[in-house]
This record gives sequence, C-alpha cells and structure tokens, in this order.
Amino acid sequence: MDWKKLKKIDAHVHLLPKDCLKKQTDAQDSWAKASVEEYSKIMQEYNIEKAILLPINDGWTFYSNVEKTNEWLSNTTKNNPNKFIAFADVLSDGGYFAESSPNLLGKSIKKYNLSGLKIHPSNLGIDIDSLEMVPVLRKAADLKLPTIIHSNPYARTNYDCCSAAKIHKMARIFPDLTIIIAHLGGAGWQDALQGNEYVDISYVLPQFVELYGIEQTNRILRAFGADRLIFGTDFPQAYGCKYNEILEKYCNILNQMDFTKEEAEKIAYKNILKILNKKL
Ligand SMILES: [Zn+2]
Repeated sequence: MDWKKLKKIDAHVHLLPKDCLKKQTDAQDSWAKASVEEYSKIMQEYNIEKAILLPINDGWTFYSNVEKTNEWLSNTTKNNPNKFIAFADVLSDGGYFAESSPNLLGKSIKKYNLSGLKIHPSNLGIDIDSLEMVPVLRKAADLKLPTIIHSNPYARTNYDCCSAAKIHKMARIFPDLTIIIAHLGGAGWQDALQGNEYVDISYVLPQFVELYGIEQTNRILRAFGADRLIFGTDFPQAYGCKYNEILEKYCNILNQMDFTKEEAEKIAYKNILKILNKKL
C-alpha cells in the first residue's frame, strides 16, 4: 500500500486566518506556518482530496470571537470549493458556557454551514464529563453534528479533563452523538481502546513508533480496527515540522502497517465520509 498515492481525507487539520498568523511573532513557531495557501500546495502532492479544518476552542491562537472564527472557517470552505470541510468552534466564557455554547453552536451551524463540532476540554478548561458540557453535546447530537474531542492527558494542563475514560461516559449519556476521539486518546490510548467511538490517528502516530516500534504500533492500530480509525495529522504544527514533513512521516509509517487495500481505504477516507454522510 502506497499511502502517499492513496486518496485521503486529512480529518484533523488546523489552519489560521492571515491576521491570526501575524500574531505568531516567532517565525520558527510552527503555528506561523499554518496558512491555507501553504497547506493547499501540498494537498495535491500527497493526494489529500479534502481536509477537515478544526478550531481549537482557544481565543488566543484563533479569534477571541467564536462567530468570527466560525465565519472564517465557513468562508475558507466556500472560497476553496471541494477542498475543505469545517467543524464549529465554541469558547469558554466563564460561568456561562453551559448556557451560551448551545445557542452559539445552533446559530453558527445555521448561518455558516459547518459540518461538525470540535471540543477541546483542555483549552476550554472544562472536564468533558462535567455538567457544563451536557447542553452543548445535547445540541450537537440533536443537530446530528459529528463531534471530535481532543484527547491526550497532559501534565501541564488539568491532566485528565479530556481523557478517553471520561469521553466514554459521555458516549453512554449521548448514544445518538457520533464521537471521534482525537489522537487515539493520546497517552490514554488504552482507555480509548475500551470504547466504540471513532478515533483519529493525528499527532501521536510518530510518537507511538518511537515508543513502541513499528510492529507494536501495527498491533495497536489493529486492536482499534479499521472500522474505528480515521486518518488525520494535526498538520502543520505537530513536532514543529516543515509543511510536508508530517505527511511524509505519516505515509512512511502507514506504508509499514499490514492493512489490506479495503482497510486502508476505510481509514484514509471512507469512515469519515460515512460519518459526514458525504461523498468525495
Ligand atoms: Zn489538533
């Protein structure tokens, strides 16, 4: 299987508006490279048919106004037809998140034609299994919005607010919500394994190879199974890589996995198309 040639949807991409890029004062900072123009150049080279643009629930890197972020995401999909799909942003506004986020989400979906919801519990500073999350997840389920939840317990944030174990609880409360656990659950991948949510392989795959080696990484991906896995990179800020380095890394690793053509196609684009109820 040649993953570079294989048709793909990168289901986990962060690109920034021009004026937010300017806020990245350090040119070496990989966020400073996250422009639509630069990313578009390599989509063709790596056979990425479409990319899902995800916000990060962070008013410092993106706009501090959720509607402005959602408007930009929407305009980017409109200005680049058939290239991008975008998920909606929400931001924490102190004690009013539970009240305000479902309304804002409903308005944004109607106005900006977005295809899903991104929840980043670490950036919001809200545990995924807290009562504050209930209204916005209910709204996403009602609107049939696939919801991707950042998951990688990390000691420098409030550690397990995004853990797969907590996401599983919400999956039981909202059986009608389609959940994608980002980064295979990160450091908590074994917990992620014990559920039935979809998982994306963004950010962590090269780390897995470093930690466990190729064969064990293959066994881990196999344990999740081709029906749960979704291709994504977290490009371009992962590891401070240059534009195409992360994709090169991902393709090299995936070429060494033992997926059949049919399984690889599910991971590369068929699972996410099914979730989005879209065609390429
Ligand atoms: Zn990400």
